[in-house]
Formats: sequence, C-alpha cells, structure tokens
Amino acid sequence: MEKVVIIRYAEIHLKGKNRGYFERAFSMNLEKSLKGIRHELHRTSGRYLVEKFDEARTEEILTRVSRVFGVYSYSLGYLTESAMDAVFAAAKRVAPASGTFKVETHRGYKQYPLNSMQISAEIGGRLLSENPALSVDVHAPSATVYIDVRESNRTLVFGSFERGPGGMPVGTSGKGLLLISGGIDSPVAGHMMAKRGMNVELLHFHSYPYTNEGAREKVMTLAGILSDYTGTKTVSVVSVTRIQEEIHAKCAEELNVTLLRRFMFRIAEAIARKKGAQCLITGESLGQVASQTIEGMTSSNAVVTLPVLRPLVGFDKDEIIERAKKIGTYETSVLPYEDCCTVFLPEFPAIKPKLSYVEEEERKLDVQSLVEEAVAGKEEVSF
Ligand code: ATP
Ligand code: MG
Repeated sequence: MEKVVIIRYAEIHLKGKNRGYFERAFSMNLEKSLKGIRHELHRTSGRYLVEKFDEARTEEILTRVSRVFGVYSYSLGYLTESAMDAVFAAAKRVAPASGTFKVETHRGYKQYPLNSMQISAEIGGRLLSENPALSVDVHAPSATVYIDVRESNRTLVFGSFERGPGGMPVGTSGKGLLLISGGIDSPVAGHMMAKRGMNVELLHFHSYPYTNEGAREKVMTLAGILSDYTGTKTVSVVSVTRIQEEIHAKCAEELNVTLLRRFMFRIAEAIARKKGAQCLITGESLGQVASQTIEGMTSSNAVVTLPVLRPLVGFDKDEIIERAKKIGTYETSVLPYEDCCTVFLPEFPAIKPKLSYVEEEERKLDVQSLVEEAVAGKEEVSF
C-alpha cells in the first residue's frame, strides 16, 4: 500500500482530437507546480497519480495541486493491490474512528471477481466487525470510504473529493499581456484568463519618483502570488513619468487619465508584440471609476489593434473582492500604495471623453517618440 494523490481533470476531455495536446500541457503544469518536491507523476485511466512523494510535504502538495487549472478534483488516498485483504488494510486507514459511514465502490476493471456491491458489502462488513464504534448509514453517512478498482491489480482507496480550480491547462489558450497595478482588480483579471488556459505575461507602469519603491514591491508580491497559478516568472516594468509630465504640461487637465491610459495601451501593445502575446488584459469593470466608462474604454481601444480582454467588465466590486480573497491577492492589494494613475490626478476627470477632443489634445505631444522612449527603458524583473 502506498500513499497517493489522485487528480481528476476537468474540461480537457471535451477537446476531442486535441486531447493529447491538452493532456501534455496539463501534466507539464502539474510537474511544474510540484517542482522541488520529491514525487513521481503517472497517468492512469483518465486520472493522474502523484506517487512516491515526500510525505512530510503532503499538505504542500495538495495546496499546489489545488492551484493547477484543469484539476477538477483531487483526493489523498492509497494505492493498493486489489485483493480484499489489501483493500481492507487501506480502507481501515481511510475510515473514521467512529460514527456513521458507507463504502462506495467503483469497478473500472470489469473482470474483477466481485462486483461493486459485493466489494462494498465485504469491506463495510469487515470495518464494522473490527470497530464497534462504527455504524453504516447508506443515505446520509458522515464519512464515505471510496474504492476504485482499476486494471493491473491496482485499487485506489480514499475518503473524500476536494474541488479543484477547474478551467483549462495554462498554455492551451494562447498568451496575453496583463496590465498589472497594485490594486485589487488586475490580479483577479489575470487569474481569470489563466483559468481559461491563457499564458499570462505581466506589465507594470510606475511613475518613479512620484510613486515610491513600495508600489513596485507590492506588484512583485502580487505577481508572486499570481505565479502560483500562472507559472509566470517575470514582470516587465516601464516608467511613464516623462509621459505624465508632458501630458500635465501641455494638455487639458481633465484628460490626464484618459491620455495616460492611451499611452499605457500603446506601450503595452508594443511589448505584447515583442513577447508574442496576442491580446492585452486589464482589470477594468464598467462604470467602476471615471475612466472605465464605455467612452473611456473606446478611447483606449482606439490606439491599439490587439484585442483587449476585460474579464471583470460585468463584475461588481464586491464580487471582485470575493475572488481576490479566494486566490490570496486581496490582503496584499489593500495595503496602501501610490499608483501612477493617482499622480497628477485631475480634480474632475472627463467621464465621457469625446474621441475627437482626446485626439486633438494628444496632437500637442510627440506620441511616437514618447512611446519608443518608454519601451526602450523597459526593465525585466524576476521575482
Ligand atoms: P486595479 O484594482 O487593477 O488597480 P482599478 O480599479 O484601480 O484597477 P484603474 O486604476 O482605473 O482601475 O486601472 C484600470 C486597469 O488599468 C487596471 O485594472 C490595470 O489593468 C491597468 N492599470 C492601472 N494602473 C496600472 C499600472 N500602474 N500598471 C499597469 N497597469 C495598470
Ligand atoms: Mg488601480
């Protein structure tokens, strides 16, 4: 008998002919997530088993598995031979010490001499006669012993199913560039796209010396948390200080944010192309702040040709917060910091900026060289 983690996968089975491709990406991501912990990963009849692992790090393995997109559910259990004595030995370890229970058997290997009802009855009976503190309740038991009889004299015995994150393996839905701030929204947006299988690269803008090192540290911490799900290793960091100074000096104050966002998008598109990213991702949500109106979004979309994905567009703030708490970014996101958007913030930002007016104001700037200069100053920061 050997302790194992059983991993069942989600939507991958829907992908017909591409199934092999999805499975390869999935097992690669599982391997990546378990890096640094001794283990073996094997695929067996529609599921993966983590075997021969460092048992002292069991909890860590389960936590890591719980963050791999594509995992539908997972269980900690035992792999044993299929003889009843061996199965019973494993069932004893999984069964509760007292209270009600039932045994539920799945027999994938149809040639096994007993059918599933007989196996459940046999193991349940043995558990009962060995432990008088147990009783059977097949309708509402407080614990269940699951038995899964597979081919090749292999049987899995486990006590529960944990829900995985679902979604599709990262790397199977192209690549996007996430504009990540230190706020609550953008990390959640990145998490959502990664959940749909997208590789998520990261780009952060700062306005040093108007914003401080703390803002940057915060983004690095968020990027680190996000990387547990996405596998991303670096953040591109770009200064928009000079751009903001130019806008502040030359353009109508109410358009500061609108114009800055157009520059951010242009820079992001240039960097996305360098990185082979096929879209931009932002944490915008319709109507959340002055710049996140449909007019604001139209004005930023107008300067790029790559699609801009805004997975949070229809979410309320409290829905976003709930997700941020679940993925573990919330605590960091709410720490105080200065975002570059708050530097030179106009008292009354334009809420519905007319594109013609925006373009007219923007003509006062040397857009192309400002963008080129910003892109040239890009740093690639590992965390
Ligand atoms: P967030 O919580 O993600 O900061 P927000 O509600 O504060 O979002 P804005 O500040 O208007 O909204 O920013 C909208 C989106 O623009 C962000 O979700 C993010 O994708 C991008 N963004 C804003 N500031 C930055 C920055 N400094 N670097 C990179 N992207 C940014
Ligand atoms: Mg913000």
